[in-house]
Formats: sequence, C-alpha cells, structure tokens
Amino acid sequence: MKGLLIQGGHIIDPSQGIDETGDLLITEGKISRLGKGEVNPPQPDYDVLNADGLIVCPGFIDLHCHLRQPGFEEKETIATGSQAAARGGFTTICCMPNTNPPLDNLATIDYVKSIAAAEGVIRVLPIGCVTKGRKGEELAELSELKSAGVVGYSDDGSPVSTSRLMRQALEYSLALDLPIIDHCEDTSLSRGGSMNEGVISAKLGLKGIPVQAEEIIVARDLALAQLTRGWLHIAHTSTEGSVELIRQAKAKGIRVTAEVTPHHLTLTEEEVTGYNVNAKVNPPLRTRQDNEALIQGLKEDVIDIIATDHAPWTEDEKNCEFALAPCGISGFETALGSLMSLVHSGQLTLTTLIAKLTCEPARIIGSKYGQLGTLAIGAQADVTIFHPDMEWVVATKNFASKGKNTPLAGSTLNSKVMATIFNGKPVYKDDSITIKER
Ligand SMILES: [Zn+2]
Repeated sequence: MKGLLIQGGHIIDPSQGIDETGDLLITEGKISRLGKGEVNPPQPDYDVLNADGLIVCPGFIDLHCHLRQPGFEEKETIATGSQAAARGGFTTICCMPNTNPPLDNLATIDYVKSIAAAEGVIRVLPIGCVTKGRKGEELAELSELKSAGVVGYSDDGSPVSTSRLMRQALEYSLALDLPIIDHCEDTSLSRGGSMNEGVISAKLGLKGIPVQAEEIIVARDLALAQLTRGWLHIAHTSTEGSVELIRQAKAKGIRVTAEVTPHHLTLTEEEVTGYNVNAKVNPPLRTRQDNEALIQGLKEDVIDIIATDHAPWTEDEKNCEFALAPCGISGFETALGSLMSLVHSGQLTLTTLIAKLTCEPARIIGSKYGQLGTLAIGAQADVTIFHPDMEWVVATKNFASKGKNTPLAGSTLNSKVMATIFNGKPVYKDDSITIKER
C-alpha cells in the first residue's frame, strides 16, 4: 500500500498536546512519522498532499447520528450517511438504534456492521437499544449487545421511559462499562410542543416545550446515576439549567458524560420564525443565553463532547405544516463550518473545538476499536484536513446525505473540510486538493 505524506500543514492533536507546522507521514494505513523536515530514512513509496495553510488533525468522531438503515432507506443509508460524514471530516460515527427493526439484538447489530463494512466509507459503530423494541417495557439483552460490539445503549428519539428501567439500565452499565445515553425529555410535559416555549412560540402561536421538559429527566437520571454508580451519558444537552445540573453532578463525583450539538451551540429559536420546518429539532433550538451556557460548559469540560445528532428526512416528510413536521437536522456536512464560527468569534479555541470532536469522544468509546482520535505514531491513520477560514455557501443539492433538511441552507460558512483520510486512504477530497506522486 502506497504511503501518503501530508506536507506543511498546521498539525493540531490535542491528545498529544501538539500544535505546530509540520509533516505527517502515513504508511501501511498507520501514522508513521510526525514532524518537520525531510522524511528520513526515506520511505519506499508515497504520494504527497500539500497542506500549506490548512489544519491537519485527527479524524472527527461523532457519537450520535441517525443513519436510518435498516427500515428508512428513503431518508438515508449507511452508504450515503457515511459519505456525508466523510465530507464533514468524520472518520468514526456511532449510529442510533431507532431503525426498523430497532437495533436491540445480535442479528440487527450484525446487519448494520456487515452493511457498514461492505458499503460504508468510514468506521460505523452501532449503539444498541436500552429496551426491547425501544418500547420502554423491559430491558434489551444488554450484555449480548455488548458482545456484538455496541458502543453504548440508547432509546434515543425517546427517553428511557421509567425511573425503574433507568435504574436497572444504569446498574448494567456499571458492570458492562458502557454508557446509557439518554434522550432527556419528559414527554408528558413536551407533548404537542414543537419549539422552545417562550415569547417567540407565543408570537407564532405554536405550542412550546419548556426547558423543564429536559431538565426534569436530566435531574432524574443524575439521581439514579448517583444511586447506582452507573455511567450516564446525556444526549444533546440544550439548556442552561441542564449544564448547571451536570456541573453539580460532576462536582459530586457522579459518573456522567454529556454532549451538545453544533445547532444547539450556534442557533437559536429565532430560526423558527417564518415557520421554518428545517429549524424544527428535538430538543428544540433555545435562546442565546442557552448557547452561551453550553459553550461555557464545553470550556469547563462539564460538556465532554460535540455530537451532530445528524437526522436526515426526505423533503416530502419535512414539507408540511410546522406543528406536524418531523424533528431533525441533516448535520454532518455543516458541522465544522458552523462550529468554526465559535472559534472565529473568540468563544472557543481551535484546540478545544478539535478536542471535543476527537480525543474526547475517543475517550468515551474506549480502546476496543483501536487508537481513535489521535495522531500518535502507530495509530490507525484517520486524519481530517480543513481550511480554517474559507468561505462557502451551503448548497444542499451538493450534500452526499439524502437529507437536505438544514436551516443553514443558503448561508455562508467560513471553514471547510478539504480532505478526510480513513485508515490511510483519502475517502473525501475537495476539488481544489490534488494528491501528487512524489
Ligand atoms: Zn434524541
């Protein structure tokens, strides 16, 4: 296998504290050299990618996405979803089990793994259900799912329905050392709501979802994590109050990790103005104050990681009255561009942003899939190369994802993924990048 020399890039690898201009050499699909100057001793055979002016970092890892296969292939497939992820700079993605059938047993997990191996362009790791059929009645075979290779458990789309089941699940998580990833929503409180509850929902005449619908379940889950000493992971944290609850829990030593999406960091409920169905998401977009609290949470490591919650829908499904439209944003291909606005405005450092997309999610996944989220010598060569300040306009017709549902359609972003390398092989490359033979 021919090697690849990524030359002259700004290498940022938070896992090793590296922030310098230099070269990265990949041989046999692994990182073999990192540093300045001539490759010495000369490697047998390699191509050269000129990364002058570009950031070179570990491949991004997404702990939360929806690939819709099996069952909803009209919305997305493992093939199209993984291509979209590669365009977004992701080399490892974890897919949620709310498919049809749901991923609650060995056979369905094996199915996803075999399609991912045959048709996926990057690493796809499945998440298993917490309860059988996601019905919230009895636990799935959690240890069997672990042996099938799941990275965690979730009934995402719905919360784990009762405190009793959540307690049992967290007890298993302690023994299995895998997280229970909860979608925190008190559905008795949110029912019928379609956006954040506040002045704008009142103005638009839409039923709102109060922040308490999330925070009540976050508080419940944290209390149960304290009781059981299990591992709780909070999906798509969206409110200032949730950040504060997680902050207090971490201070008490409760084992909790948490994620936030690019859209909850950068967009507000104002996107819904004009009844924009592509801004309808669950949990709903909140306020500027919530954005700021979530950013602060990231800085303090109260929020551990950024995850996209990529949720593609067909245009026909989204094209209906706001209150009836399904929730979700197609997020892979705009994630970096929108997140870099936080770096450009000075709210996050580039190193923190990259850590939240690489070594931090790798820490949650653990070492069973190899050394992820690092450019350490000997690690599998998953590398993302991006331009830190290049303007581009979001044209959803160019998305690899089948889901064109994004409130960012037509807007200008100021950072762009230029190449994604998975296991040493380029799986996505911007038209402006050429790979030359030495
Ligand atoms: Zn969810």
